[in-house]
Amino acid sequence: MILEKFSIGIGDRFGHQGKAQLEALQTAKAHGIDVVPVWNKSHREHSIIGTMPADTRKEADDAVRALHWNSSYYVDADHIGMKNVDDFIDYSDFFTIDVADFIGKPPGPEVFKVFMHTFKRFHGELCIPGIDCPFTIDEERLQGIGSQYLYAVKEAATIYRHICEQKGSDDFIAEVSMDEAEAAQTPEELFFILAMMAEEGIPAQTIAPKFTGRFNKGVDYVGNITRFTREFEENLAVIHYAVKEFSLPSNLKLSVHSGSDKFSIYKPIRTLLQKRDAGLHLKTAGTTWLEELIGLALAGGEALELAKTIYRRSLQRFDELAKPYAAVIEIDYRNLPDEDDVASWDGEKFANTLRHDPDHPHYNPHFRQLLHIGYKIAAELGSGFTNALEKHEDIISEQVTKNIYERHLRPLYIG
Ligand SMILES: [Zn+2]
Repeated sequence: MILEKFSIGIGDRFGHQGKAQLEALQTAKAHGIDVVPVWNKSHREHSIIGTMPADTRKEADDAVRALHWNSSYYVDADHIGMKNVDDFIDYSDFFTIDVADFIGKPPGPEVFKVFMHTFKRFHGELCIPGIDCPFTIDEERLQGIGSQYLYAVKEAATIYRHICEQKGSDDFIAEVSMDEAEAAQTPEELFFILAMMAEEGIPAQTIAPKFTGRFNKGVDYVGNITRFTREFEENLAVIHYAVKEFSLPSNLKLSVHSGSDKFSIYKPIRTLLQKRDAGLHLKTAGTTWLEELIGLALAGGEALELAKTIYRRSLQRFDELAKPYAAVIEIDYRNLPDEDDVASWDGEKFANTLRHDPDHPHYNPHFRQLLHIGYKIAAELGSGFTNALEKHEDIISEQVTKNIYERHLRPLYIG
């Protein structure tokens, strides 16, 4: 199974928008951009919403059938580890092997010795074409990299082999992700991580490092764009070089776990992909669910009231909702509109406050981030929420399709 050059990870928390999401990719295709969909959902999302990996598979298959999509598509077991991978085996053909928690764990002395011996060959100046200054690699530097990443790569290998055994096949896409680590990985570190992956025989087709800057959920990039751009280009150079040097899969590409909506880095990414003729996997977060809320708000009446109820309860349970996402949100409580205010809004005001249109005077990223993590509240409403999704499918699917095409695919691939 060979992943195409351009792919997009589309989360869909409640599993109702598969067709609307796929329509965005069809629109892109009609404009000459071939991007394949990857429906991703993590164990955490499944457990909060009460869905199963089989549901995601069904959603993807149904959408593909309904729209006569004749290109590839994948179902991603997102951010899995040994603890939860087994639930996904039968339903996924894309596995995001998350080993961020294992970064910095000390490897056993024996494997460390082997690593130091094997990697001795890199002692001296390491020159990677496309990167200005050579890296100086000595014993100490290697020790540092080994103690930081060797354990994590070994864990990725264990999980990879486990998936092969359980599936009885190696015919799936493997991604290794480290994006939920505390610190960003440098291009130099990425080089050695890829070298270790090759040693371990992990044929990853995508790698998700943690990039410099903040990738908060559902809102724009926060950080130094010049620095990000340089790092991204160096990562592309590292991958290009490592593929040849270590005989990794020739389609190996970067996976950007964007947390959605990193509009301000789309242009540099687009420019660099063109310049280097490189592929990309862009994983978006479950912001499709925010388009559902926008659709409900625009539908007015009871649907608008439902959207307001979700906001009110999210505000009341702010601390509880924010806790698991503390590292990937930045919500200033003082900038959240109070519930009485929101109660007086019409659908347009609610939609414009929530929709990620940075130029709109009503857009409020704090409101948006709170609702993004408020999906637990919607999940608790059960059929009260999903029935509304079905009732207002038309207006919702229009929002979903437009969001993915207009705000993501077009700027990223056409400009
Ligand atoms: Zn991630």
